[in-house]
Amino acid sequence: MKSVIVVGAGIWGSSLALRLAETGWAVTLVEQHTPGHVRQASAGETRLLRCAHGTEEWYARMAWRARDGWRRLEERAGEPLFHEAGMVWFAGTPDGWENASAQVLKNLDIPCEVLDPADGARFFPEFRGDDLSFLLWEPHAGVLRARRATQVTAALAVSAGVRLVRARAVPAPGGVRVGGDVLTADRVVWACGAWLPELFEVPMTVTKQDTLHFAVPAAWTTPGTPAWVDHGASAYGHGDVDGAGMKATSDAEGRPYEPEHGERVVDEASVANARAYLGRRFPSLVSAPVLFSQVCQYALTPDAEWIIAEVSPGVWLLGGDSGHGFKHAPALAGYVAGVLDGDHAPEARFGLRERVPSRGLRTSGST
Ligand SMILES: Cc1cc2nc3c(=O)[nH]c(=O)nc-3n(C[C@H](O)[C@H](O)[C@H](O)COP(=O)(O)OP(=O)(O)OC[C@H]3O[C@@H](n4cnc5c(N)ncnc54)[C@H](O)[C@@H]3O)c2cc1C
Repeated sequence: MKSVIVVGAGIWGSSLALRLAETGWAVTLVEQHTPGHVRQASAGETRLLRCAHGTEEWYARMAWRARDGWRRLEERAGEPLFHEAGMVWFAGTPDGWENASAQVLKNLDIPCEVLDPADGARFFPEFRGDDLSFLLWEPHAGVLRARRATQVTAALAVSAGVRLVRARAVPAPGGVRVGGDVLTADRVVWACGAWLPELFEVPMTVTKQDTLHFAVPAAWTTPGTPAWVDHGASAYGHGDVDGAGMKATSDAEGRPYEPEHGERVVDEASVANARAYLGRRFPSLVSAPVLFSQVCQYALTPDAEWIIAEVSPGVWLLGGDSGHGFKHAPALAGYVAGVLDGDHAPEARFGLRERVPSRGLRTSGST
């Protein structure tokens, strides 16, 4: 039987462990805390699932496949993990990122609709879109209950025979060192999120990201309130899910951050920025109180392309999700399993080559 050690039980490591265990591998999953612990990127209360990725067809296709994966996962888990509320993209120019996304989605037969800014009234109790060229509507996008999905995935992995070891792992010849022991296997995958640069030389920076949810009036809390992204303003959010309030937050990169010991208190400036955006787009929400907040971290590569790379025979790095990796996890697990099985090589884009800074996969970066 082929054996593998996966280090890191975030959504990437847990999904991969589950997939490999179900396809005949003996899997050991090593996690320094517990699956779903609050320092993980995967432990955000919610993460968005969308297929629009500008011109990047590869990611659009993978997100669409992943949506089926989430549906299967929630059936197995017997609980809702994906809230398919749809997503509205606010396009500031007629021929920018959203237009490119619409073309790709149409080519791939992924449902989407180009709407007039005035149609914003269909989705939100109040909407100011006079600065916009159009809206792009993705009806099958939505919100993942991320932390819960991570815990469920890790639990399913254990049920499928994965051995979960709670320890901090460091690289060792032929395997990984945990405490005084060296564990060995045919393959080792380091899926360590923002901790990866402590262990390997990787093109990655880690930044502090504050997320905010606001207490909003009842009209905003219907399950039909969609997710939204303003690419040009680097702002995004969604309607109330499970009583946590309306999410409204920034995708702009925060300051450098250390994921293990960094203090997890949101900055006042983040609250002020989110309020300023709400005031422009949904004016009556400008003084809605903050109901819930979280501090998380981005593991960013310069071009926002992920890292899937073999650093020595049988030893793989899986990381650099760049703030857009959660939604893909079930499909990405299948892709990486194919790499480990030798079915296909990873795309060159994921290699440890020198990366040219690019924003094609992320929002514009302004606040
Ligand atoms: C604010 C924010 C918003 C985001 N929004 C979205 C979104 O809307 N849609 C989307 O698709 N994605 C989004 N993302 C990105 C998404 O959260 C990540 O892509 C995903 O969670 C990455 O998962 P991961 O498993 O790689 O990392 P993590 O979840 O961070 O897991 C890594 C794990 O490795 C463990 N580990 C590290 N080192 C060791 C070691 N040496 N030994 C043992 N264990 C170790 C850690 O303890 C941790 O549990 C967002 C991220 C943030 C921060």
